[in-house]
Amino acid sequence: MKRAFHPREDRLITVQDYLSEFGSRLGPNGKPRARPNSRCPACLAPMKIVGEDRPLHDQIFSHIGKENPPPCPLRNSADYKYEFLEEAPEDSEEGRRLRRDFFKNWEKHWNVMWKLLDHFMDIEDFIGLIRRADTTRLWHRSKLSEWEIPYIFLVWKEWKPVKKRDGTILRETWIRFWFDAHVRTIEDIWIRTQGNPRIIKAWYKDPKRGAILGPDHLIDTDEVRINLDFLAMPHKVPADFVVNKMRQSFLEDFSP
Ligand SMILES: [Zn+2]
Repeated sequence: MKRAFHPREDRLITVQDYLSEFGSRLGPNGKPRARPNSRCPACLAPMKIVGEDRPLHDQIFSHIGKENPPPCPLRNSADYKYEFLEEAPEDSEEGRRLRRDFFKNWEKHWNVMWKLLDHFMDIEDFIGLIRRADTTRLWHRSKLSEWEIPYIFLVWKEWKPVKKRDGTILRETWIRFWFDAHVRTIEDIWIRTQGNPRIIKAWYKDPKRGAILGPDHLIDTDEVRINLDFLAMPHKVPADFVVNKMRQSFLEDFSP
C-alpha cells in the first residue's frame, strides 16, 4: 500500500516520508541501517518497504511475512463483517429516543456518510442501513451514542462504484471502511476502544466482472477523522430527490 502508519505515531506516511526520516536501507558504510518498522494502519503489524531500489511510484509498504499473521482486512481478500456478539436486547425507551433523534437529524447523518463516500451515496443504500438498524435493533444496544451511527453504517457494507441508470460512472472506486484491529464485533467499539474508535478507509479499483475484490485492487488507504460534534454543526442539505425518497420510505417517522 502507498501509505502506512509511522513507526511510533498513529499517522499515515508515504514511503518517501519514511525514507527522509529514517534513511535508506543501506547506511553510508554500505551496511543495512537499523530502522524501526512502519505499521499497517488496519492491523498495526510491522510493515516493510518493497521496491526501495525501484522508481518512487513502485515503492510500497507491505506486511512482513509471518506464519500466523493477525487477521487484517488489508491483507486478506475476504470481506470483513462486523456482527453483534450479544443477543438483541428488549425495546428500551432510550433506544426509541435514539431512533427519534436519528430521524430528526437524519440529514446530518446522511451528510457525514455522503462526504466520506467521496460525495456519492445511493439513497437506497442509506435507507437499507436504517432498515438493518431496525431488524438488528441497533438503536436499543447499550451505550450507543447518536454520533456513532453513521460510522457504524459506513463499516456495515461494501460501497461499490456508483453508476447512473444510463451507465455513466459517478464514483469509479470501490470503498471499504473498517474499525482498527481492536474492534472485532460491534460491541468492541465501546469495550475495546474506550469510546475512541479509529476507522480506516480503503479505495479499490473496481475488480473485473466476477473477480473477488482483494489486496491487488487496493489503491490507497486513509484514516477517517471521526467527528464527534457533527450533530451540532451546520450541514449541506441533501438533494430534493433524496429528501423525498426518505420521506416516502419512512412515512410514519416523518408524520408530526
Ligand atoms: Zn494489516
